[in-house]
Amino acid sequence: MEALNCPKGHGPMAQKKIKKQKTFKGIDIEYSADAFICSECDLEAGTVQSAGDIQRAIADTYRKKIGLLTGQEIRSLREAKELTQQQLADAMNVGVASIKRWETGMIQTRSMDHALRIQLQYTIRADSYTGNREISLPRIKLVSETFERTFRKRLLKSGNKLLFLAKYLWYADMLAFRQLGRGLTGASYAAMTYGPQLNNYRDLVKSIQESDVKDAEVLSQEELRVIHQVADKFSDERQVYDAAHREKIWLESKMGALIPYSCANELSEF
Ligand SMILES: [Zn+2]
Repeated sequence: MEALNCPKGHGPMAQKKIKKQKTFKGIDIEYSADAFICSECDLEAGTVQSAGDIQRAIADTYRKKIGLLTGQEIRSLREAKELTQQQLADAMNVGVASIKRWETGMIQTRSMDHALRIQLQYTIRADSYTGNREISLPRIKLVSETFERTFRKRLLKSGNKLLFLAKYLWYADMLAFRQLGRGLTGASYAAMTYGPQLNNYRDLVKSIQESDVKDAEVLSQEELRVIHQVADKFSDERQVYDAAHREKIWLESKMGALIPYSCANELSEF
């Protein structure tokens, strides 16, 4: 790409990565693009990439944000399994054109995403203490705020041991794992004397509060349904607290031990 000169006469413009914002399918996403910028007057002239590249960047950022595999992920997982596009298409009973489109920017449906994950064995991860997810503090905050909005009450407060919030989060994470194959937040939970608790909550509370929910993967309809299921069942903080203390998987855990998500099937309240 040849250099551009600033039309206001400031000489050659420098090529820079800039952050762009866009609302796509109702979701705010931020992606980066290369553009020519005048260092003198900040004028931005034409992005360097083609429209197709930009579309791909938007589609991938969107997919990441709503928890779908990105095109790049589909391609690299497929290649890691030494499958051709045709072989993957055959295994999924779809046309090869679909695989090509998903890898280059078309957004797959959630059920197709699920089928892709099964074929590409994406979800297999050794430890069962984070519910098939990496811990995300912004997501913990997002789920907490969803409960707070439902109850119109603050639950995330510093210095209160998250006594009630931790139980809501625990039920929501476990139930999501049971119903959707994946927790909501990636948090680990320990069995404490006062019930299931976010592991290392003391170190986490402040970071959770300071995190930005805009960095969180947005909640899918299915995930919201799980949260509302928990909120409907325990509309009162005392209820969720008492219910957690009746759970066999907590009663039978060694104090301080992590509670594996694989126990989700044994929840007695749901
Ligand atoms: Zn200029």
